[in-house]
Amino acid sequence: MATSPFKLNLHELPRRAGDFKDFQLDFLAPESIGNPMIAIPVKTQLLINLRAESVSDGVLITGTISSKAVGECGRCLDPIETVINQNFQELFFYENRAGEDEEFMMEGDIADLEIPVRDAVILALPINPICREDCQGLCSGCGEKWENLPADHEHELIDPRWQGLSEWKSDPRFGR
Ligand SMILES: [Zn+2]
Ligand SMILES: [Zn+2]
Repeated sequence: MATSPFKLNLHELPRRAGDFKDFQLDFLAPESIGNPMIAIPVKTQLLINLRAESVSDGVLITGTISSKAVGECGRCLDPIETVINQNFQELFFYENRAGEDEEFMMEGDIADLEIPVRDAVILALPINPICREDCQGLCSGCGEKWENLPADHEHELIDPRWQGLSEWKSDPRFGR
């Protein structure tokens, strides 16, 4: 059975409130994490430095995720790359202490960090990634970057109100 690299074995952490142990997980992302605009690509290094601390009902995990995400600028479509350094914290309840369904629970000595890490990464990623604050994007007429176009660049646009009329004129059913 393949084990997920997100699964942390806490066998060596005494279940005594206040005891803690530091861990480092270093692996390649088994699948991409992010959104369609920007994500940590599959097989990118994920480095997670964390501290696991025993508390009365479980283990409190506090960590930092380091990686990098790639995507494209929402305005000009240029590739962009962004460094991720995101903190996260999650309490994993001991199996016999867990209450409601949405809580994270230990599976024996194992804390599966996949969902907390995934959620933290998604939170760290921009919703509308852009290459630069002042990126001017693309001309909607020709797709060229505005920064490469002369200031007076424009296209002759047919006013959409007249578009219908010209189609009607050229429609053979109205035979002209
Ligand atoms: Zn851009
Ligand atoms: Zn143009």
